[in-house]
Amino acid sequence: MDGTFNENDLSRVIEADRAHIWHHLIQHKPFETNDPRIIVEGKGMRVWDQNGKEHLDAVSGGVWTVNVGYGRESIAKAVYDQLMKLCYFANSAGSIPGSIFAEKLIDKMPGMSRVYYTNSGSEANEKAFKMVRQIAHKRYGGKKTKILYRDRDYHGSTLATMSAGGQDERTAQYGPFAPDFVRVPHCMEYRKHELGHEDLSGEAFGKAAADAIEEVILREGPETVGALCLEPVTAGGGVIEAPEGYWERVQEICKKYDVLLHIDEVVCGVGRTGTWFGYQQYGIKPDFVTMAKGVASGYAAIACMVTTEEVFDMFKDDASDPMGYFRDISTFGGCTAGPAAAIENMRIIEDENLLGNCTDMGAHMTANLQALMEKHKVIGDVRGKGLFLGAELVADRSTKEPVDEKLAQAVVADCMNQGVIIGVTNRSIPSRNNTLCFSPALIATADDIDQITDAVDGALGRVFG
Ligand code: PMP
Repeated sequence: MDGTFNENDLSRVIEADRAHIWHHLIQHKPFETNDPRIIVEGKGMRVWDQNGKEHLDAVSGGVWTVNVGYGRESIAKAVYDQLMKLCYFANSAGSIPGSIFAEKLIDKMPGMSRVYYTNSGSEANEKAFKMVRQIAHKRYGGKKTKILYRDRDYHGSTLATMSAGGQDERTAQYGPFAPDFVRVPHCMEYRKHELGHEDLSGEAFGKAAADAIEEVILREGPETVGALCLEPVTAGGGVIEAPEGYWERVQEICKKYDVLLHIDEVVCGVGRTGTWFGYQQYGIKPDFVTMAKGVASGYAAIACMVTTEEVFDMFKDDASDPMGYFRDISTFGGCTAGPAAAIENMRIIEDENLLGNCTDMGAHMTANLQALMEKHKVIGDVRGKGLFLGAELVADRSTKEPVDEKLAQAVVADCMNQGVIIGVTNRSIPSRNNTLCFSPALIATADDIDQITDAVDGALGRVFG
């Protein structure tokens, strides 16, 4: 390739991509013959690709991120102004946007008190894991080091967060993993037969699913269990909302056995389910809350690990001990662009009542998907909360046998041809991507939602007849 590189010359962009980019999460073999997709521009709910084709983005940047939509000038300006004032200083010192955002965030999270800035969801989760380990050493003679995580939940791509990974299909080839991460069963009502709970429903099932956590704690020994890490609504594991009665029981169990509750809000956080945080839908009182994607809607890289004053105090009550504080750093946790963008992101959500819109549009989309379920018997289940929804495709409604993954992918491809980007994620055992997922920006209108579900309707008709 010659040295000239004009970013408007998209064939050169594609050439350079093919030569040098290792994309996330996809097999590259097809790029030997097909062009990779390059997203060039975004505005509101829509993005344009290298061919100038317009797409309605029903997945907020692919992975539940751009909650306030594309092209927000006020966020870009807030970031620009802050960068010109101060781009960076290590977070052992404070910053103006860091303080302002922390106060605004804590205001939305009664009971929480301290914000630890970092730059990815995985990293935020690791910070909480490290705190749990340090508390075990400081308070419990090195014993309460075990961290429980749930089947189907995902907490990140690093080795420690994969040690807490509940999706075997993602972790199978990356072991061995860190010790003292222990799995608890899932809580998915649609597949309760896997848990032997066919006879239970609603709250009775919810309680039984939570009781399974207590069984694991008792099996492991409560004196060894430091924390339980859960997604409020499981995202990549199949868009799974816990049944009624579950969270109340989880909270009781954590209290009974002195187990810290870590809620991973990397996807649900900052509005996705219609409340500021997913856990607030269920009356949970967490000890740690981690968040990333929606914090600044992708306008800057920022993640937060938020905890209580009680946890914070454990790290400062022995100031004479040189090992007593949290000996951790995240270099880019000191970038000021993140909190500057996050402040403006939060203002937009408030001023435009996007939580209310998320709840209303979530209900509208759920109704549309349920109507599709009446029409297409391949949809076995519709679930989720707010604008965070999934439709599981099954070959047979009575056995719940997942559809062939290729067919689910064909539905996604058909929607893409129609100019609508939807996602597909994994729920089933054996492992197959069979759950269509939807997470449009919180600014979606009823017309946008109808366009998405109409595309799915057409695609299902073509793929499954
Ligand atoms: N937790 C959950 C629930 C997630 O969905 C993700 C990312 N998909 C992560 C953690 C990890 O976040 P990141 O990719 O920013 O490290």
